[in-house]
Amino acid sequence: MHLHSIFSDGELLPSEIARRYAEKGFEAIAITDHADGSNMEFILKHLLRAKGELQGHDIKVLIGIELTHLPPDLIPRFAVKAKKLGAEVVVVHGETIVEPVARGTNSAGVSTPDVDILSHPGLITVEEAELAKENEIFLELSARKGHCLANGHVARVAEEVKAELLVNTDSHAPEDIILPENILNVALASGLSDKYSRIITAVNPRRLTVD
Ligand SMILES: [Zn+2]
Ligand SMILES: [Zn+2]
Repeated sequence: MHLHSIFSDGELLPSEIARRYAEKGFEAIAITDHADGSNMEFILKHLLRAKGELQGHDIKVLIGIELTHLPPDLIPRFAVKAKKLGAEVVVVHGETIVEPVARGTNSAGVSTPDVDILSHPGLITVEEAELAKENEIFLELSARKGHCLANGHVARVAEEVKAELLVNTDSHAPEDIILPENILNVALASGLSDKYSRIITAVNPRRLTVD
Protein backbone atom coordinates (compact mmCIF):
# COMPACT_ATOMS: atom_id res chain seq x y z
CA MET A 1 0.00 0.00 0.00
CA HIS A 2 3.06 2.28 -0.29
CA LEU A 3 5.61 2.19 -3.11
CA HIS A 4 7.27 4.41 -5.70
CA SER A 5 7.42 4.71 -9.49
CA ILE A 6 9.36 6.92 -11.90
CA PHE A 7 6.93 9.70 -10.99
CA SER A 8 9.18 10.28 -7.96
CA ASP A 9 12.38 8.41 -7.06
CA GLY A 10 11.37 4.91 -8.14
CA GLU A 11 13.01 3.12 -11.06
CA LEU A 12 9.99 1.52 -12.73
CA LEU A 13 7.04 2.60 -14.81
CA PRO A 14 3.65 2.02 -13.17
CA SER A 15 2.94 -0.77 -15.69
CA GLU A 16 6.11 -2.65 -14.84
CA ILE A 17 5.37 -2.28 -11.12
CA ALA A 18 1.89 -3.74 -11.62
CA ARG A 19 3.27 -6.58 -13.74
CA ARG A 20 6.03 -7.46 -11.26
CA TYR A 21 3.77 -7.39 -8.18
CA ALA A 22 1.11 -9.48 -9.97
CA GLU A 23 3.79 -12.02 -10.86
CA LYS A 24 4.83 -12.30 -7.17
CA GLY A 25 1.24 -13.14 -6.25
CA PHE A 26 -0.05 -9.87 -4.77
CA GLU A 27 -3.77 -9.04 -5.13
CA ALA A 28 -3.44 -5.26 -4.79
CA ILE A 29 -0.91 -2.44 -4.52
CA ALA A 30 -1.01 1.33 -4.09
CA ILE A 31 1.44 3.50 -6.06
CA THR A 32 2.18 6.42 -3.73
CA ASP A 33 4.89 8.68 -5.13
CA HIS A 34 6.68 11.31 -3.04
CA ALA A 35 4.81 14.61 -3.28
CA ASP A 36 4.99 18.19 -2.08
CA GLY A 37 3.39 21.30 -3.50
CA SER A 38 5.63 21.24 -6.58
CA ASN A 39 4.46 17.92 -8.01
CA MET A 40 1.32 16.59 -6.33
CA GLU A 41 -1.05 17.54 -9.17
CA PHE A 42 1.46 16.28 -11.75
CA ILE A 43 1.78 12.85 -10.12
CA LEU A 44 -1.93 12.30 -9.60
CA LYS A 45 -2.86 13.49 -13.08
CA HIS A 46 -0.43 11.04 -14.69
CA LEU A 47 -1.12 8.07 -12.43
CA LEU A 48 -4.88 8.50 -12.79
CA ARG A 49 -4.52 8.68 -16.55
CA ALA A 50 -2.96 5.20 -16.50
CA LYS A 51 -5.32 3.72 -13.90
CA GLY A 52 -7.54 1.95 -16.43
CA GLU A 53 -4.70 0.25 -18.24
CA LEU A 54 -3.01 -0.73 -14.95
CA GLN A 55 -6.00 -2.89 -14.00
CA GLY A 56 -5.17 -5.13 -16.97
CA HIS A 57 -2.35 -6.84 -15.05
CA ASP A 58 -4.51 -9.12 -12.84
CA ILE A 59 -3.83 -6.93 -9.82
CA LYS A 60 -5.82 -4.07 -8.33
CA VAL A 61 -3.79 -0.84 -8.51
CA LEU A 62 -4.74 2.07 -6.28
CA ILE A 63 -3.44 5.56 -7.01
CA GLY A 64 -2.01 7.70 -4.24
CA ILE A 65 0.77 9.94 -3.00
CA GLU A 66 3.18 10.09 -0.08
CA LEU A 67 3.32 13.61 1.37
CA THR A 68 7.06 13.89 1.94
CA HIS A 69 9.09 16.41 3.97
CA LEU A 70 6.25 18.93 4.00
CA PRO A 71 6.21 21.46 6.84
CA PRO A 72 3.88 19.65 9.30
CA ASP A 73 1.28 22.44 9.47
CA LEU A 74 0.66 22.06 5.70
CA ILE A 75 -0.12 18.33 5.93
CA PRO A 76 -3.89 18.61 6.66
CA ARG A 77 -4.51 20.96 3.71
CA PHE A 78 -2.45 18.85 1.31
CA ALA A 79 -4.17 15.63 2.38
CA VAL A 80 -7.60 17.11 1.67
CA LYS A 81 -6.38 18.41 -1.69
CA ALA A 82 -4.90 15.03 -2.65
CA LYS A 83 -8.24 13.31 -2.02
CA LYS A 84 -10.02 16.00 -4.08
CA LEU A 85 -7.57 15.38 -6.92
CA GLY A 86 -8.47 11.69 -6.89
CA ALA A 87 -5.91 10.08 -4.58
CA GLU A 88 -7.27 6.79 -3.23
CA VAL A 89 -4.47 6.41 -0.68
CA VAL A 90 -2.77 9.29 1.14
CA VAL A 91 0.44 8.36 2.94
CA VAL A 92 2.36 10.75 5.20
CA HIS A 93 6.13 10.16 5.22
CA GLY A 94 6.63 9.69 8.95
CA GLU A 95 9.49 10.43 11.29
CA THR A 96 11.81 7.56 10.30
CA ILE A 97 15.02 7.50 12.33
CA VAL A 98 17.16 7.47 9.17
CA GLU A 99 16.08 10.80 7.61
CA PRO A 100 15.80 14.33 9.06
CA VAL A 101 11.98 14.41 8.95
CA ALA A 102 10.58 17.51 10.67
CA ARG A 103 9.40 16.98 14.24
CA GLY A 104 5.63 17.24 14.34
CA THR A 105 5.18 15.24 11.11
CA ASN A 106 3.90 12.12 12.91
CA SER A 107 1.55 14.22 15.00
CA ALA A 108 0.17 16.15 11.99
CA GLY A 109 -0.22 12.89 10.04
CA VAL A 110 -2.23 11.05 12.70
CA SER A 111 -4.36 14.15 13.41
CA THR A 112 -5.58 14.37 9.79
CA PRO A 113 -8.56 12.09 9.00
CA ASP A 114 -7.88 12.33 5.23
CA VAL A 115 -4.57 10.53 5.80
CA ASP A 116 -4.74 6.74 5.38
CA ILE A 117 -1.24 5.62 6.37
CA LEU A 118 1.59 7.07 8.46
CA SER A 119 4.65 5.41 6.91
CA HIS A 120 7.77 4.42 8.90
CA PRO A 121 6.82 6.44 12.01
CA GLY A 122 10.14 5.84 13.79
CA LEU A 123 9.98 6.48 17.53
CA ILE A 124 6.23 7.16 17.52
CA THR A 125 4.72 8.03 20.90
CA VAL A 126 1.77 6.37 22.61
CA GLU A 127 -0.23 9.62 22.23
CA GLU A 128 0.42 9.68 18.47
CA ALA A 129 -0.60 6.03 18.16
CA GLU A 130 -3.81 6.76 20.07
CA LEU A 131 -4.65 9.54 17.60
CA ALA A 132 -3.96 7.15 14.71
CA LYS A 133 -6.45 4.71 16.20
CA GLU A 134 -9.04 7.43 16.75
CA ASN A 135 -8.71 8.71 13.15
CA GLU A 136 -8.47 5.18 11.68
CA ILE A 137 -5.01 5.78 10.23
CA PHE A 138 -2.76 2.77 9.66
CA LEU A 139 0.74 2.79 11.15
CA GLU A 140 3.37 1.17 8.97
CA LEU A 141 5.86 -1.61 9.56
CA SER A 142 8.41 -1.19 6.77
CA ALA A 143 10.23 -3.83 4.76
CA ARG A 144 12.66 -1.12 3.65
CA LYS A 145 16.26 -1.00 4.86
CA GLY A 146 16.79 1.73 7.44
CA HIS A 147 13.11 2.50 7.97
CA CYS A 148 12.61 -1.03 9.34
CA LEU A 149 14.94 -0.39 12.31
CA ALA A 150 12.04 0.99 14.37
CA ASN A 151 9.53 -1.77 13.45
CA GLY A 152 9.76 -3.43 16.87
CA HIS A 153 9.01 -0.15 18.61
CA VAL A 154 6.14 0.71 16.24
CA ALA A 155 4.59 -2.76 16.68
CA ARG A 156 4.80 -2.57 20.48
CA VAL A 157 3.25 0.92 20.72
CA ALA A 158 0.52 0.08 18.20
CA GLU A 159 -0.39 -3.11 20.05
CA GLU A 160 -0.48 -1.24 23.35
CA VAL A 161 -3.21 1.15 22.16
CA LYS A 162 -4.75 -1.18 19.53
CA ALA A 163 -3.85 1.09 16.61
CA GLU A 164 -4.01 -0.63 13.22
CA LEU A 165 -0.85 -1.74 11.43
CA LEU A 166 0.10 -2.46 7.82
CA VAL A 167 3.29 -3.93 6.37
CA ASN A 168 4.52 -2.11 3.25
CA THR A 169 7.47 -2.69 0.93
CA ASP A 170 8.09 1.02 0.14
CA SER A 171 9.67 -0.43 -3.02
CA HIS A 172 11.65 1.79 -5.38
CA ALA A 173 13.37 -0.83 -7.58
CA PRO A 174 12.82 -4.41 -8.83
CA GLU A 175 14.92 -5.92 -6.03
CA ASP A 176 12.66 -4.30 -3.40
CA ILE A 177 9.66 -6.28 -4.64
CA ILE A 178 9.54 -9.16 -2.17
CA LEU A 179 7.16 -12.13 -1.92
CA PRO A 180 3.89 -12.06 0.06
CA GLU A 181 5.39 -14.52 2.58
CA ASN A 182 8.24 -12.08 3.22
CA ILE A 183 5.62 -9.47 4.09
CA LEU A 184 4.31 -11.84 6.78
CA ASN A 185 7.87 -12.37 8.03
CA VAL A 186 8.34 -8.60 8.51
CA ALA A 187 5.30 -8.62 10.83
CA LEU A 188 6.56 -11.69 12.73
CA ALA A 189 10.06 -10.20 13.04
CA SER A 190 8.55 -7.07 14.57
CA GLY A 191 7.53 -9.21 17.54
CA LEU A 192 3.85 -9.70 16.70
CA SER A 193 2.07 -13.03 17.21
CA ASP A 194 1.41 -15.35 14.28
CA LYS A 195 -2.34 -14.67 14.44
CA TYR A 196 -1.97 -10.88 14.61
CA SER A 197 0.69 -10.88 11.87
CA ARG A 198 -1.74 -12.68 9.57
CA ILE A 199 -4.48 -10.16 10.32
CA ILE A 200 -2.37 -7.12 9.55
CA THR A 201 -0.96 -8.58 6.34
CA ALA A 202 -4.08 -10.31 4.95
CA VAL A 203 -7.05 -8.38 6.34
CA ASN A 204 -5.88 -4.79 6.88
CA PRO A 205 -4.80 -4.06 3.28
CA ARG A 206 -8.27 -5.11 2.08
CA ARG A 207 -9.80 -2.38 4.20
CA LEU A 208 -8.11 0.14 1.87
CA THR A 209 -8.83 -1.73 -1.35
CA VAL A 210 -12.60 -2.25 -0.90
CA ASP A 211 -13.51 1.43 -0.46
ZN1 LIG B 1 11.76 7.37 -1.99
ZN1 LIG C 1 7.99 5.91 0.55
